[in-house]
Amino acid sequence: MTEETQSKKISKYFSELDKETKDILKISKEARKRGLDPEKDVEVPIACNMAERVIGLISAIAPKVADAGIEKRITELEKQYGNLDWRVAFKIAEEIAQQKFVKFDSQIEAMEIGIRIGFAYITLGVVSSPLEGFACLKVFKREDGKEYIGINYAGPIRSAGGTMGAASVLIVDYVRKKMGYAAYDATEKEIKRMSTELYDYHERVTNLQYLPSKEEIEFLTKHIPVQVVGEPSEKLEVSNYKDLPRVETNTIRNGVCLVIGECLCQKAPKLWKQLARWGKDFDMDQWHFLEEFLKIQKKARAGKEEVKSKEKVPPDYNYIKDLPAGRPVLCHPKYPGGFRLRYGRSRASGLSSMSISPVTMLVLDEFIGVGTQIKYERPGKSTAVAPCDTIEGPIVKLEDGTVIRLETKEEARKFSSQVEEILFLGDMLVNYGEFLNRAHVLVSPGYCEEWWVQELEKATVDMFGNLDLDKLSSLVGISKDSLDKLLKLPFRSRISAEAAVQLSRSMNIPLHPYYTYHWNLIDLARFGLMLEWFDKGKVEREGDKILKIVLPLDPEPKRALELIGMPHLVVNNEFVVIEKGHAHALMASLGVTQEKDLASLRKTVSEVPDDSETSVLEILSKSGDVRLRDKSGLFIGGRMGRPEKAKMRKLTGSPHVLFPVGEEGGRLRCFQAALDEGRITADFPVYKCTKCEKETISPICEHCG
Ligand SMILES: [Zn+2]
Repeated sequence: MTEETQSKKISKYFSELDKETKDILKISKEARKRGLDPEKDVEVPIACNMAERVIGLISAIAPKVADAGIEKRITELEKQYGNLDWRVAFKIAEEIAQQKFVKFDSQIEAMEIGIRIGFAYITLGVVSSPLEGFACLKVFKREDGKEYIGINYAGPIRSAGGTMGAASVLIVDYVRKKMGYAAYDATEKEIKRMSTELYDYHERVTNLQYLPSKEEIEFLTKHIPVQVVGEPSEKLEVSNYKDLPRVETNTIRNGVCLVIGECLCQKAPKLWKQLARWGKDFDMDQWHFLEEFLKIQKKARAGKEEVKSKEKVPPDYNYIKDLPAGRPVLCHPKYPGGFRLRYGRSRASGLSSMSISPVTMLVLDEFIGVGTQIKYERPGKSTAVAPCDTIEGPIVKLEDGTVIRLETKEEARKFSSQVEEILFLGDMLVNYGEFLNRAHVLVSPGYCEEWWVQELEKATVDMFGNLDLDKLSSLVGISKDSLDKLLKLPFRSRISAEAAVQLSRSMNIPLHPYYTYHWNLIDLARFGLMLEWFDKGKVEREGDKILKIVLPLDPEPKRALELIGMPHLVVNNEFVVIEKGHAHALMASLGVTQEKDLASLRKTVSEVPDDSETSVLEILSKSGDVRLRDKSGLFIGGRMGRPEKAKMRKLTGSPHVLFPVGEEGGRLRCFQAALDEGRITADFPVYKCTKCEKETISPICEHCG
């Protein structure tokens, strides 16, 4: 099919959708006009773009905003700031609050409608939060008598999502400032009430997805320029700090807990990312406290023992707090051997959907399958996993002590019943968007094929002036075809250890990642022990090539091989055998050549002072004859989530009519049961027929028609 006929077909499809929608709408309007329903018109407006949808949504409660020219203004603002930019929401909210388009009965009403429209804009006009989650504004008095704004939130704020819920507070605050209201001056008791209420809610009502530390809640409440308030939603009262004059209820309020905890605290990094960029231009300097807040948060998240750590990305324990029973923890935060960060995207992965190797799934006893929800450490919160077979799978230790890198599903099936320990879970493929979306700092990944191949290309071009595979082939003694395949299909082609070492030596590039081990996961003491052990072993050579290293079985130094992910066999419970190219790669990594043995390396290691922070990788880089990069990068912790929580919310049956049947309908709200009772207790409008004078609940008299 040519592109032209295809586009014709598609535009026909869309015009059909359009026509049929209008036809159905016409019929519905006719039907509603007959007056049998409480409403005489169809409440759902047709919207062709975001601006229309937003106005359509809000006009459900404020009909006058329709046809006031707001859509046109939104489109103009989008041209200025970009589609879906928060600043569009800020500006439109401000202009509506200033009653530039429509006159309202009061200043507060104008502000409320402006805020609803701004809020609807950033939530794409598809959730009910701007109508029901943001309930209303309230005006309170400061200690000094000036007026400040309280935002009344209710439970449906949840459907906006954390970030947009938090952004709604910013919109309110922006409008507040523009309209001349003072900032909220939280009292010491109000601050304590907030942290008490969140902890009460979390412990006694329901788990918050993110429970901020008390320091976070109190710092935020102290500095936030608007007060977050809400309707009582629970049966329980707060455990302390009751009867405060400016907090209207002692009952726990879910809207408040959600907005403070899951919106403002949890999403503070995202808010700050936006405000740091343009907050000044929008006169939002009062939010500058977020910078300090993030420091407090970082400390709190890292847990007590990690406060001292100087790490750029400290371990994050959030995903294993509140662990539901029966959900396996796959690995602890940043624990060596956890999921190794790998950047990229497979055909089956996407936003909030990472990939792991299908072999990893099998090794985890298929506990993790396609689509299983995993809560993970960073950069995001949870993911539905999809398989990707071109990233690294697990390295496992079998019951007999053999360490094997499982690469195929067949191998996994064959060995998974004999696995004693999973040494490495393998890669987790994370796309760059997750980092951008969470405003998470980018972290160096472990050395991998896509990185190596670029280093090879660059080295070749630097040496020969262009990517001359003929010259490269004759220099390194590897066939042009193999080189071509390596460059084009780095994930699918396997390179031999001899070729990898050869390429590394001749081109001065790091050793291929397949033959690079996790050197940084052992310390110098263990490394020294391993080198001593090698002295007792036997190296089998064939010319330059090292075929095998046979060592006496000794659990202590053997552990070093396990920790760096070096595959080896245990034979007759007597010998450890390193083979299949790994022997060759290992010796090259250690700098052993025909002329040079391990003695000089051992000497270097023994000369390093005890208190030195020199890593094994640094030593090998100095003394080895191939360059090495860090294989480990960042390990990401993870646990199984609660997939059943995400099941489809399906309504049984497909009702066309809603009619209250009250308690008389029984537990199932059944029509039949209500008919048997012969009456219904519920709220109805009461109409009076002008002809027969009878009262009825329907706009049309059921006697006279
Ligand atoms: Zn009548």
